Amino acid sequence: MKKIVVSLVLVLLVSSGIGFVLQGLFDSFWKGFTASLICHFLAIVVINSLSRKKNIVSQLEDALGNVLALQTVKVTCPCGKGSYEEPLFINKDNIFKCDVCRNTFRVDVDYETVLQTNQPSLNSMYDSLRAGKEEEL
Ligand SMILES: [Zn+2]
Repeated sequence: MKKIVVSLVLVLLVSSGIGFVLQGLFDSFWKGFTASLICHFLAIVVINSLSRKKNIVSQLEDALGNVLALQTVKVTCPCGKGSYEEPLFINKDNIFKCDVCRNTFRVDVDYETVLQTNQPSLNSMYDSLRAGKEEEL
């Protein structure tokens, strides 16, 4: 709250000064003061919108960096000497050039599905057997 009051006082003081300077141009102090005040508030609105835009761009860059970090793996050339950390994509040819042997090599991204099951808890199995509820197993 104190910052806002200080900012308003500063804006009013600067606008008053500009109003005095522009008094000859606008024929009165209040016209120059009002023009300066309008320019201040427009500048504040523009600066705030640019700041928000920078913040959004920064957040998007961070999110993209996180996605790329999830897909980045260590890739080794078939020659065995060159190894690189590169992001791999499923729907793209992952072709790289080895700096050691100067050959290009491709990385095939293969995936397989694995059925997941719930591991039975030994405590719940014991409790169910003890209670005679074999059908729950
Ligand atoms: Zn190589």
